[in-house]
Amino acid sequence: MYFSYSGRPPFNSLIYPVPEPGGLGIHLTLDLAGQARFGPDVEWVDTEDYSVSLSRLEPFVRGIKAWWPSLDETRLQPAYAGIRPKLAGPDGGFADFRIEGPEQHGVGGVVNLFGIESPGLTSCLAIADLVAAKLT
Ligand SMILES: Cc1cc2nc3c(=O)[nH]c(=O)nc-3n(C[C@H](O)[C@H](O)[C@H](O)COP(=O)(O)OP(=O)(O)OC[C@H]3O[C@@H](n4cnc5c(N)ncnc54)[C@H](O)[C@@H]3O)c2cc1C
Repeated sequence: MYFSYSGRPPFNSLIYPVPEPGGLGIHLTLDLAGQARFGPDVEWVDTEDYSVSLSRLEPFVRGIKAWWPSLDETRLQPAYAGIRPKLAGPDGGFADFRIEGPEQHGVGGVVNLFGIESPGLTSCLAIADLVAAKLT
């Protein structure tokens, strides 16, 4: 879930706190129009619901104030939500970047990429090299 921050952006660069279990912590990013937004937070769900609930505001405020005490919480506005498939549940420990080729599943010419979370885009060229190596 994300909350946007109305008005002039308070910072001109991305800010990442220390990661939390299941996510990167409520961080600050700037959209293409330069507007600041905070998120995402981590909420484990069993059903699909993309509504942005104001009940999440208080934990957001707490999370942001941990690294920016002078946050003006009246400027936070519900923005949007998404659901991220995970390789492990809340008690499953940390798991991502599972790349399985023929040596794992025995099917020639197929490479599965599971849990390619952040920084999947940044590492896409290295991933492509690995996939190519698994196919040769
Ligand atoms: C909020 C967020 C922020 C991120 N920020 C960063 C970042 O700053 N830097 C970074 O490096 N990475 C970032 N990532 C991670 C990055 O987006 C992913 O690593 C990358 O998109 C993974 O690529 P992919 O091709 O494996 O999967 P996807 O991009 O998810 O592509 C999978 C595609 O398959 C389609 N699909 C799924 N099921 C089916 C089906 N049954 N039939 C047909 N099509 C199907 C989906 O619609 C989708 O288009 C971020 C991810 C999120 C969610």
